[in-house]
Amino acid sequence: MASVNEMISEEQLRIRVEEISHEIADGMGGEDFTIVGVLKGSVVFLADLMRALHRRGLCPEVDFLTVSSYGESTESSGAAKVLSGLHQEVTGKTILLVDDIADTALTLQHARDHLLSLGAREAYTCVLLDKPARRRVDFTPDYHGFSIQNVFVVGYGLDAANRHRCLPYVAELKEGDGAE
Ligand code: 5GP
Ligand code: MG
Repeated sequence: MASVNEMISEEQLRIRVEEISHEIADGMGGEDFTIVGVLKGSVVFLADLMRALHRRGLCPEVDFLTVSSYGESTESSGAAKVLSGLHQEVTGKTILLVDDIADTALTLQHARDHLLSLGAREAYTCVLLDKPARRRVDFTPDYHGFSIQNVFVVGYGLDAANRHRCLPYVAELKEGDGAE
């Protein structure tokens, strides 16, 4: 059986999302920007972040991208591909790319390059979680919520084979003996 152990509580998430929204409101310097969320893992964080930004007086446009690292394993294969695209024009726009986690960072690097190749003026990045120990490319998100160790986490949008996304907190998933 796999066990799910709470690691970041609802209250910690709530407080940190408010703080990040301040950092973004200050950091983007009053510049108009569009949020691009990476599906599906970013949606819970993004929904909370949008409302926190609104409390700071910001209401950016929102669009989504699907980026896939090949395969379904918990290890990135090293190749990322944009699977479905934006619904709005990004040419000349400042983008805030939002994802659940930067692990190897291949996904975010690829998504950022994709937006810039489409003519985005600038593409900043924001993740809830950062696992710097796992990097395979030189990449530092502009905004991040929590740095974590090299453990596999679920909840608050993050899944394991499409399970556990709805957990309101972030938990460590520990695989035990045998299948769940
Ligand atoms: P990358 O390795 O490209 O930075 O991350 C690829 C994707 O792997 C992330 O967007 C996320 O969906 C997934 N991922 C990486 N680490 C974790 C983790 O600890 N838990 C979960 N649920 N997904 C992860
Ligand atoms: Mg993802």
